[in-house]
Amino acid sequence: MTNPSQLVRDRFNEVAPMTDPSRLVRDRIRELRAYHIEQTPCPVIMDANELPYPLPEKLRERLWVIMAGTAFNRYPDMELTHLTAAIAEKERIARNEIVVGNGSDEIIQSLIVTLCDPGAKILTPTPTFVMYEAIAHYLNVDTVPAPLEDDWSLDADKTVALIEREQPRVVFLASPNNPTGVKYPMETVERIIEASPGVVVVDEAYIDYADGPVGLLYRERPNVVILRTLSKACLAAMRLGYLMADERLAAQVNKVRLPYNINAVTQAVATEVLRHWDMLTPLFGKVRREREIIYRSLEEIDGVEPFPSQANFILMRVKTDPGAVFGRLLDEGVRVRWRKGAPRLDDCFRVTVGTTDENTRFLTALLAAL
Ligand code: PMP
Repeated sequence: MTNPSQLVRDRFNEVAPMTDPSRLVRDRIRELRAYHIEQTPCPVIMDANELPYPLPEKLRERLWVIMAGTAFNRYPDMELTHLTAAIAEKERIARNEIVVGNGSDEIIQSLIVTLCDPGAKILTPTPTFVMYEAIAHYLNVDTVPAPLEDDWSLDADKTVALIEREQPRVVFLASPNNPTGVKYPMETVERIIEASPGVVVVDEAYIDYADGPVGLLYRERPNVVILRTLSKACLAAMRLGYLMADERLAAQVNKVRLPYNINAVTQAVATEVLRHWDMLTPLFGKVRREREIIYRSLEEIDGVEPFPSQANFILMRVKTDPGAVFGRLLDEGVRVRWRKGAPRLDDCFRVTVGTTDENTRFLTALLAAL
C-alpha cells in the first residue's frame, strides 16, 4: 500500500519540480555581486578606513562597567532615549531631528525605501561608495552616474544639468568622497541642493578628518539630509550611524526603521563614547598628520601618483601592474583596498592611514613591490 504522505510529496513535486531554489529569487538580486572584501588575515590592515588606534584606556574601562550592567534578557530601549540625547548634545540639535541606523548603510537603505518608488532614480557622482547603487538596485531604483573629472572633482554645471534632465529622487554626495578623498566645495553642494527636485544626502562619514562639516543645512533647506557614522571614528565594531534632518522628514524615515535596530550594547557604548568625544579628537589629529606624511612620501615615489585627501585614507594610482604590486604588499603583510576591475579604479589602491609603524611598513613594502 502506498504511504499517503509519499503520495502528497509526489503530487507536490509534479506541480513544483525540484529545481535550483535560486531560480525563485528576483532578477535584481541574482544580478548583484555579493559585497566582497578581501579578508586574508594580515598584520597590517589598511583597507577598511577604520581608526588604527584602540579607544583610550580610560574610556574602555568605563565601557566594561557599562556593558556588565546590560540586561541581556531584555529588548533594548526602543525609544533610544540616551543614545539620541547624546547625539543631540554633540550636534546641538533636537532628538527628533535624528534617525539612527545599524551602521549608516542601514540608513542609506531606509532613505531609499522612504523616498523612492520602484522605477525612480537616484544620482551619485562616480566613482563613489558602492552601497548607494547596490541598495538602489535591489529596491528597483536606478542610479544615474555623474562622472567625476580626472582630478576627482565634481563639475557643478554638468551635475546640475544632469539633475535637471534626470530629476532624481535622491542625490547621494559623499563628502569627503570614498574612495577619492575629495571634499566638494560648499558652492558646489549648494548648487546641487538648489537644482534638486528631491532630497540631497550629504554623507559625512569621513568628516572627522576633513576641514569642517557642511553644517545644519537642512534648517534652511529642508530637502537636505546629513549622514554620519561612528565606524570611521573608533567604533566600527559597534555599527552605528545617524542622520540629521528636518524633523518632518526624520519622522517619515523613522517609520521604516525596524524595531530594536540598535542593540543594547551598541546603545550603551555609543552613548558613552559620544559623551566623551573630546577624548577622541586628538586621535583624528594624529591620523591627519600621518596622512600628510604618507602623502608627501608617496609623491616622492616614482611608480605611484597619490591624490590629495581629506579623509582617513589616500587614493593612489599605481603605474605598473597593480595586481602584482597588490600581491607583493600582501606577501609583506600589508592589506590595502584594490577594487580590481572597477571602472577608473582598476589601477588605483585606497590606503587607510595606519599607525606610524604601519605606515612605515606600508611605504617600505611598497618601495620593494614596485
Ligand atoms: N558612507 C560612506 C561614504 C562610506 O565610505 C561608508 C563605509 N565604507 C559608509 C557610508 C557606511 O558606513 P557604516 O555602515 O559602517 O556606518
